[in-house]
Amino acid sequence: MRDRQRKSGGLTFDYIVIGTGPAGAVIAKILTDDKKTTVLVLEAGENKDRDRPIRDSTFAPELEEQFFAQYFWQGEGVPQEGVDERTFEWTTGRLTGGGSSINGEQYVRPTAAVLSKWQRLLGPIWSPRRAMQRFKRMERFNGETSNAQAHGFHGRIDIRQAPRNPTAMANKLVSAIEQATGFDEILDYNDPKTPLGPFTRWQLFQKPNGRRESSSTAFLSSDIVGPSSRGVNGRKLNVFFKSTALRVLFQNKRAVGVEFLKEGQCLRAYARKKVIISAGINSAQLLMLSGIGPAAELKAAGIPIVFPNPNVGKRLRNHTLNFATFTTNPNDTPLPAGDPNALYTGGGVPTRSLTRSRPTAAGRTTYRDWFKRHLNCGYFISEAEKPRFNTHSEQ
Ligand SMILES: Cc1cc2nc3c(=O)[nH]c(=O)nc-3n(C[C@H](O)[C@H](O)[C@H](O)COP(=O)(O)OP(=O)(O)OC[C@H]3O[C@@H](n4cnc5c(N)ncnc54)[C@H](O)[C@@H]3O)c2cc1C
Repeated sequence: MRDRQRKSGGLTFDYIVIGTGPAGAVIAKILTDDKKTTVLVLEAGENKDRDRPIRDSTFAPELEEQFFAQYFWQGEGVPQEGVDERTFEWTTGRLTGGGSSINGEQYVRPTAAVLSKWQRLLGPIWSPRRAMQRFKRMERFNGETSNAQAHGFHGRIDIRQAPRNPTAMANKLVSAIEQATGFDEILDYNDPKTPLGPFTRWQLFQKPNGRRESSSTAFLSSDIVGPSSRGVNGRKLNVFFKSTALRVLFQNKRAVGVEFLKEGQCLRAYARKKVIISAGINSAQLLMLSGIGPAAELKAAGIPIVFPNPNVGKRLRNHTLNFATFTTNPNDTPLPAGDPNALYTGGGVPTRSLTRSRPTAAGRTTYRDWFKRHLNCGYFISEAEKPRFNTHSEQ
């Protein structure tokens, strides 16, 4: 190890974490909380927390649709069966905070049904009860609920329930959904005790002033990492930006380091304990470049096989976004004038388009059942609310 350390110019740490998205940022902070453990974080993008399109929440809808090259990995998926072999963007944030710095800011916890499935697959730490404890520990909830037990109020992630006073349009929308489905309006969709239903108040990853809260602002903030990208107050954390991991280095079957490209230079860093890949949708690619993946594909690409595993890079799933257009009263505005950061008019609709899989009998009960099966937090946003994005609007 000492020899390696000498060769790597001293780049040896207890852990190397790849990516500063929600997974990487949280792990990096927790590992270094003891002020003893040394951690290097490699992030391909830069710190863009001060750029207006990143910090100003009103840009979120446009970021989500335009995938600007200075903030996003550029990629396209493979043709998908079942949707006429269409291809879709395959992207996430390439900057500090990863996807959480460019996403739609919607804070929606998995339901107990989803968590129970994960528990069956991954073990008891994913049980609904334990997941709830972790959500509570992480969040600083700023909103209304009829079940305070469902929320945390002292965590690092600011969650803002918005808006306080929904518009007439939001109320009309909710009452239309109530009438169509028979489900009553709900206040707090993240409360596991709340039944399904439409709502006017989204829970958003936002600070109390409506600015974006990301894994960067919550877990790599100035009380954790200083301007030189090093840990503050004795925290043994180093973040390298513009540093793209190329492959994990192995000694026999043990991961011992990472080869990465930092501003044109190919460097190596070594890990005494573990290399943690938290590179979001790029994780599978990185595993394959490192020799872990389907043997035939690795062989064809000339990559030496470390662990053959036919599942790497397969069966990844994303969700779709479907749009429907409504005619509204032109005097109604979707968002309150005083709260453009509220972002969405309301929610609680089926994600699948009504026209594609409408139940044959249009009776109320049928709709209700259908709604129950398909509901997965759709949302409404108004075209009029979208800001105009200026790629030079950094401040
Ligand atoms: C357009 C869009 C909208 C979304 N809207 C929402 C929403 O409203 N609410 C919600 O909860 N979720 C939303 N999501 C999903 C959410 O953002 C992701 O689930 C979350 O960011 C995943 O976290 P992660 O840490 O696993 O990966 P990511 O956030 O993707 O982070 C991975 C990080 O690793 C870095 N990285 C990747 N490869 C390398 C490499 N080789 N070397 C170095 N660094 C690397 C990336 O630059 C990135 O910073 C959205 C996602 C997208 C793309």
